[in-house]
Order: sequence, then C-alpha cells, then structure tokens
Amino acid sequence: MNASSHSENNNFTAKSENEQDKINRFLFDKANIRGEIASLNKVWQTMQANHSYPEIIRNYLGEVVAASVLLSATLKFDGSMTIQASGDNALTLMVVECHNDFGVRAVAKYEEPLPEETDIKSLLGDGNLVITIEQAKNKERYQGIVALEGNSIAEFLEGYLIRSEQLETRIFLACDDKASAGLLIQQLPGQSDDEDSWERITHLGSTIKPEELLGLDVKEILHRLYHEEDIRLFDAQSIYFKCSCSREKVTNMLRSISHEEASDIIKEQGNISVDCEFCGKEYQFDEIDIAGIYTEHSQTSDPSIRH
Ligand SMILES: [Zn+2]
Repeated sequence: MNASSHSENNNFTAKSENEQDKINRFLFDKANIRGEIASLNKVWQTMQANHSYPEIIRNYLGEVVAASVLLSATLKFDGSMTIQASGDNALTLMVVECHNDFGVRAVAKYEEPLPEETDIKSLLGDGNLVITIEQAKNKERYQGIVALEGNSIAEFLEGYLIRSEQLETRIFLACDDKASAGLLIQQLPGQSDDEDSWERITHLGSTIKPEELLGLDVKEILHRLYHEEDIRLFDAQSIYFKCSCSREKVTNMLRSISHEEASDIIKEQGNISVDCEFCGKEYQFDEIDIAGIYTEHSQTSDPSIRH
C-alpha cells in the first residue's frame, strides 16, 4: 500500500496564498545537492474539476502531476514533457503534460470496480510508463521508458533518473483533494567536500510527512528538515493550468472515423460534440463542418489518385 503518502485529513493550516501553485529551487552549496519543492493547489483543483476520480486514482494522478513539475524543473528542455502510464488493469491511462514554463494538464482513465489491491503496480497491471520530451523549436522527440521497479511512482522515477541522467535522486510525493506536492533532492555532478551529505540530506528529506509537504510554506518545510544545513533558496516560479487543445486538433482526431460514421452521428444527434478530456472544453461540429472536414481530407490525403 502506498496510502502513507496520501493524506485526506489535513490538520495543518493551508499554505499561504502566495505559496500556492509554485515551484521553488534550493541548493546545498557545500554538498553540491539541489532540491525542488512543488505545490499545486488551484491548478490541481482545476485539473479535477471535470472529473470525479475515485480517491486512489486521484492521488496517483496528483503524484504524477507533482512529479512532472519536479522533473521539468530539473531536466533541460524547451517545449513539453509528457509522462504517460498505460495499464491493462483498472488504471488504464494517466497522461500528464508539463511545459518548461510549468504549464501543466493531466487526465486519468480507469475502469470500475477498482480491485482490492490498490498499490500502483496492481492498479496498472501489465503496464508501462513512458516519458516523452518534445522540443518546441524543431519538434524533435525524445522518448524514454521508465521501468516499473519499486513500489511507488516516486521510486519508478528515481530509477529512471539514475539510468537516463546518471543523477542520484530522491523524490517524495503527496496528494489530497486540495493539493498535490512534491520534494526532489538531487546530487549534482562533481565533487563535494562534505562526504556524508547525500546520506544525511536524503535521510532528513525522507522524514517529511505528506501533510507537511501539502500544507506548509517552503521556508517552514526547509526549516523543519534542514535547519542545520546551509541552504540557498531561489525565487519561486509559478505553475499554471495549460491545455493545448484546439479545434484543429479535434478536427484531426475526427478524421480517424469515416465520413459515413460521422454522418450517422449527425443524423442521430444533429451535431458532433467532442469534449476535451483535459480541460472540458466542448467542440461542436455540424453537418456543414463535417462536410468540410472530409472534403479537405480527400483532397489532401489522397493525391495518389491523380497520378
Ligand atoms: Zn483542453
């Protein structure tokens, strides 16, 4: 069970307004270790607004959301990063997209009833986890497979970072209905004068409680964990909800069904209505729109007939 990292009863006072939906970097200069603390509040609530996820699904999705922001802050890219988990058991899909400016969106799909075993591996079944980074400029894509080694999303990603980036990393994630949050600690390349620092700093990090991560301000978290360490805290950056859906993308998706199928739906329902799974925005297509889509399509996609 991974329930220890989930907290439903948050007895702490909520984070200050200006600490919500923020990511903070900090550095242990002498130890050559960096850290990130991410907190998603209104952004996380917006992501759930059009869904009524079962608690356990919601919490895993929230963990991936917080992790995606932490990874975006530490991996170098200029574009978007998508973490996608697919499974053949109750949790069929989780997709989280985070841009390098911390614009983020997320969705999960699941089948009920959920099984009794609700650890992440059981919920995914025979599943896989893939990280895709797409550079905005040249649309170049990098894809990495995350092995499902360990018992939590944090452990899967720690393994990925050591294998792909050769960076020793510890990740702590927490989620409830109001917030999702994460703490990342990472050993940077190079020598450190302080030999025991990694063990000491990660051990202290592991004492963070989910309710502390979710409810406390950054300075308070750092004070509780690291009041004896030299820390440099950087200015916070904002996290926001960003959905990249568009009528054009939905149109392209509609082309995957045949003109005949589309016409049948129009006949039955008067129009075709497609809701964005991430933000809930509704895109409507009437008979004339559909006729236009398939005319364009036959002209552009099948030039071979003319040759
Ligand atoms: Zn959308």
